[in-house]
Amino acid sequence: MTTHATAAARATVYGYPRQGPDRKLKKAVEGYWKGRVTAEALRETAAGLRRTTWRQLADAGLHEVPTGDFSMYDHVLDTSVMVGAVPDRHRAAVEADPLDGYFAMARGTREVAPLEMTKWFDTNYHYLVPELGPDTVFRADSAKQVAELREAVALGHTPRPVLVGPVTYLLLAKPAPGVDGSFVPLTLLDRLIPVYAEVLADLRAAGAEWVQLDEPALVQDRTAAELNAAARACRELGALTDRPKLLVASYFDRLGEALPVLAKAPVEGLALDFTGPASANLDDLAAAGGLPGKRLVAGVVDGRNVWINDLSASLSTLGTLLGLAGRVDVAASCSLLHVPLDATVEREVDPQIARWLAFARQKTAEIVTLARGLSDGTDTIAAQLAANRADLASRAGSALTRDPAVRARAQAVTGADARRSRPYAERVAAQRDRLRLPQLPTTTIGSFPQTAELRTARADLRAGRIGTAGYEERIEAEIREVVSFQEKAGLDVLVHGEPERNDMVQYFAERLTGYLATRHGWVQSYGTRYVRPPILAGDISRPEPMTVRWTAYAQSLTDRPVKGMLTGPVTMLAWSFVRDDQPLAETARQVALALRDEVADLEAAGTSVIQVDEPALRETLPLRAAGRPGYLAWATEAFRLTTAGVRPDTQIHTHMCYAEFGDILQAIDDLDADVISLEAARSHMQVAGELAEAGYPREVGPGVYDIHSPRVPSAEEAAALLRRGLEAIPPERLWVNPDCGLKTRGWPEVRTSLKHMVAAAREVRAVLDGTAS
Ligand code: GLN
Ligand code: ZN
Repeated sequence: MTTHATAAARATVYGYPRQGPDRKLKKAVEGYWKGRVTAEALRETAAGLRRTTWRQLADAGLHEVPTGDFSMYDHVLDTSVMVGAVPDRHRAAVEADPLDGYFAMARGTREVAPLEMTKWFDTNYHYLVPELGPDTVFRADSAKQVAELREAVALGHTPRPVLVGPVTYLLLAKPAPGVDGSFVPLTLLDRLIPVYAEVLADLRAAGAEWVQLDEPALVQDRTAAELNAAARACRELGALTDRPKLLVASYFDRLGEALPVLAKAPVEGLALDFTGPASANLDDLAAAGGLPGKRLVAGVVDGRNVWINDLSASLSTLGTLLGLAGRVDVAASCSLLHVPLDATVEREVDPQIARWLAFARQKTAEIVTLARGLSDGTDTIAAQLAANRADLASRAGSALTRDPAVRARAQAVTGADARRSRPYAERVAAQRDRLRLPQLPTTTIGSFPQTAELRTARADLRAGRIGTAGYEERIEAEIREVVSFQEKAGLDVLVHGEPERNDMVQYFAERLTGYLATRHGWVQSYGTRYVRPPILAGDISRPEPMTVRWTAYAQSLTDRPVKGMLTGPVTMLAWSFVRDDQPLAETARQVALALRDEVADLEAAGTSVIQVDEPALRETLPLRAAGRPGYLAWATEAFRLTTAGVRPDTQIHTHMCYAEFGDILQAIDDLDADVISLEAARSHMQVAGELAEAGYPREVGPGVYDIHSPRVPSAEEAAALLRRGLEAIPPERLWVNPDCGLKTRGWPEVRTSLKHMVAAAREVRAVLDGTAS
């Protein structure tokens, strides 16, 4: 391939995993919180991690290294500090000690609440939500950005500071507590721009040639007013005289209507995502007339999955882009924060499969290879291209990715498979006959406290200190404890307590063929919390039952119904790394069919109530409205495929842990579950009202016990919430349960809280029956 670009293409990344090997940063930060690590030692660890990352990136062949993307906790919180948006309640702490004040905003203290946390777009990373109001006064504090820039310069690197852009920052914010809920943070843009101008001038003075402003919020559906705000921000920052060159970065989806706005803006560069559905950016960019004379950073390596890139396909995209901009650089589609650090340390993964994996380090190498191929011609990367072709072929032809039996079964699925055999009205009668539950039946969401003993048992099993039989004996002992407590407490539908599960997704992933576990594949979920998402690597099948023995054991101990407990297909996908070689719908269908067999086995073992949790259904809703109907169609189909094979008198429950589902009410109905439990305690049962208004026809258990706090609700409190629930939902369709699972709580609170909950149900029942004293 011959290239016509005037400047050589360069490789770059927008950000890198912060934790270092072995979650070093987590350990240092948590050590600091516990007083075991000094502030100085923590800062030294952090600087050492940055140093190592920059050296690795530069050694790999990156020209510019990102700075300022590093964070002790969260980059949006860093941005709040940078613009001086410290909530009043944290001001004293921040003034007394900036580091402790920073962690107080992140985690709260005994006296003050932390900032609220929410998901960073549709990733599994969570950021701290800026709290703003009409009285917010911004003040530039470029100290962190400038210090990290200087560190990189001193080490001989060419740094490109990365900042959350002003428009995205405001669009991610919410009205501060006490501020009217209708307040729109974006109205503060005029006040915020001078602060960014000051930071940019400081960075320029400290030696930044380029600064990257991340504006991912512009890939969502935006109003004309919001697009105007973006245009204005670019115009005003672009007009500054004392500033670095500006690269406005977008990722996670196509820019759509925002693309022509940014293409016209007086900034020197744009970064666009060209992976998956965002590849629509290619045609959109051409339609907008390209970026003549400007720098285009092309995100062609997927920054959110763990798979090797198709280098030839990326080169062809890059080749097309060459004609559309003054200069084309190569990058990952987004920061590499969302993938683990290094695939080569996964020694337990079959070497044949390990060839298909690319974590942050491997993706960086791919980006460098692509930049070289683009600048110097594909001959210079012939060896890498050949190896890449072989690895892709090995993946495509592997028995793991292509199991004929799984494929044939998925192919043969019909609409009837995803439909219960009887309409709800008939099912509900059959279930009432079989279960004979009282009005306002009480239950829990599944897990009981994960005690230190259970964690020790798992560690003992892993270390070989106990055998499988010894481990299973401990699990059975816990189940006996949980069942006997529930009987005594007077709950109506019991659970086995999930003591055998380390995690609601990992547990199933470990038991399904086609799923891969990693040992070091940590990614940041929030702050110092890291998760190791399993990898959906191949076609999914279930070699043997996964939960039946525990549920059946629990059922053998009691005459009351014990609810079987499974994680649903949508959540299995949402909290894993998914395949990029087939549509998500297909992967979901395979997982659903494996779970359907588990449901059938539970039913055959005598389980009359089966709950399939889908807490992630709302989370993975596509960022743009246009993508939502397609997603909801396959997601709800996968749930129904999992559950619809049961008899009419087997009761299907589902559970979701959030209160805001205005956008998915129809989808919740489409699940056709007989009973749904939801989080509601904090929102005072508002969800019950919303469901009722939407005409939801089946049974509902809005939570009456807030499990996110160690607080024990009184029976009166729970009863009051129940009565609110009854204002919206008739008594024959209302369940009584906590907001979510109890695994993070301690036994003493759980015991008392559940007793109060049962007492509340009895009190309200008595009033309904007219037997109240
Ligand atoms: N059954 C799970 C539990 O009780 C549900 C957890 C969840 O919804 N996140 O822990
Ligand atoms: Zn939940």
